[in-house]
Amino acid sequence: MAKIFNTLTRRLDPFIPGGVAKDSTAEYPPVTIYSCGPTVYSYAHIGNFRTFVFNDFLRRYLKFRGYTVNHAMNITDVDDKTIAGALKEGVTLKEYTDNYTQIFFEDCKTLNIEPVEHYPRATESIDAMIDIIAHLDKKGLIYEKDGSLYFSIAKFHKYGRLSNVTSMDIKAGARYDADEYTKEDVRDFALWKAPKENEPYWETPFGKGRPGWHIECSAMVRKIFGTTIDIHTGGVDLIFPHHENEIAQSEAAYDEPFVRYWLHVEHLLVEGSKMSKSLGNFFTLRDLLDKGYSPRAIRYLLLTAHYRKQLNFTFDGLTQAGQALLRIDNLIARLNDIKQEKPINEEAEKRCSQFIGSFIEAVDDDLNIAEGIGTFFDFLHDINTLIDKRMLGKADADTIMHILNHIDSVFGFIFFHGTVTVNKEEIEALIEERNKARKEKNFTKADSIRDELYSKGIIVQDTREGTRWLIKS
Ligand code: AMP
Ligand code: ZN
Repeated sequence: MAKIFNTLTRRLDPFIPGGVAKDSTAEYPPVTIYSCGPTVYSYAHIGNFRTFVFNDFLRRYLKFRGYTVNHAMNITDVDDKTIAGALKEGVTLKEYTDNYTQIFFEDCKTLNIEPVEHYPRATESIDAMIDIIAHLDKKGLIYEKDGSLYFSIAKFHKYGRLSNVTSMDIKAGARYDADEYTKEDVRDFALWKAPKENEPYWETPFGKGRPGWHIECSAMVRKIFGTTIDIHTGGVDLIFPHHENEIAQSEAAYDEPFVRYWLHVEHLLVEGSKMSKSLGNFFTLRDLLDKGYSPRAIRYLLLTAHYRKQLNFTFDGLTQAGQALLRIDNLIARLNDIKQEKPINEEAEKRCSQFIGSFIEAVDDDLNIAEGIGTFFDFLHDINTLIDKRMLGKADADTIMHILNHIDSVFGFIFFHGTVTVNKEEIEALIEERNKARKEKNFTKADSIRDELYSKGIIVQDTREGTRWLIKS
């Protein structure tokens, strides 16, 4: 990967894992990546999954480029929301968060998100948190108030480098912590929180309590990687204060850089607005599956926008994702139909290597997947033209299939079909509507209904006996 936008430097930086340039990607040590993972108090929503699909694309692309990766994503299993959820349901915190952790893993699998190497849980990383706090304490950077411990930001002169937030920007009285605690400076944040009634707590050398949110990630990075990591990712909402605070704690405790490259994913909007329950535009992955949309179309849609641009999620967009996938499947079907042996077609061969070259050129530039997918559809178009002219034989078709498999190690939507939940009545109602449109010669409408069904994982076939539908396998 040649260049990557680093939130910390606010520019495109050359990507050098480990900080020492080598002659080839294979010579680099494994790229160490930490991604802020889900807070397991509920189902993750499709905005969260935009960020998680981006993490997946990042690791897949690095591997495609010849790097090895060592990737951790934490599970935040203790905070105000998880504690409140467990109390409300009358179960232990562990029972409550285990359930949503399981659901999160299932959802990742549904979207063809590869498992990462480490899934540390906050509640299993308390020792590492104690270690950071002990280091900070020795340096005189923390203070106690009402049984809680706070990090004193005024003593960390590099504070604000990531978010560009200065003390002037922070309004007195504003809350930067989910909990209300008294502190000396509004910017200070809790490292360790005194237990409130009915809350779970841990015994530590500095008393009973539970971790603040920010210390969890600093501790898990330290526990797994031990030293400076290459990449830290998360959504843009985490830049301040979460990531700023992670830097402050880790760098103050261990006197070494925390992270080389900070990557932040822009938000997903739904039909142009922020997702919110009151607007009725708040969707979990399972909400979309219940509406009959296919995991494959959802993955495609979440992946295709550049990560530093907002993605406006719409149901039309999902239908268009279905159209794009149909083009891919049609090409695969045509390639499978080529049985005739012919001499190798040089134009096809050239086009294959040209495509890989232009794909890499696009995506190497700050992971520009939108442009990369553009080069992919140009490639499909050119291959279709060669097939139209009957220029390709079996060997060419095999080479192209090989390229599709190779590129799918990054995309994960070419040969992935996922499972589809079917609402028979709804499908049949749409088929009837489509048949009506065809009778009225409204082919645009008929085609758009067929594409919508495709994005839900349903293939429509018009036969002499009438219209049939089947579930894409
Ligand atoms: P949480 O479970 O709230 O800790 O969030 C998990 C991840 O999803 C974090 O990296 C967030 O920054 C990210 N995230 C939250 N909302 C959105 C959104 N609307 N679009 C994209 N990413 C989001
Ligand atoms: Zn985090």
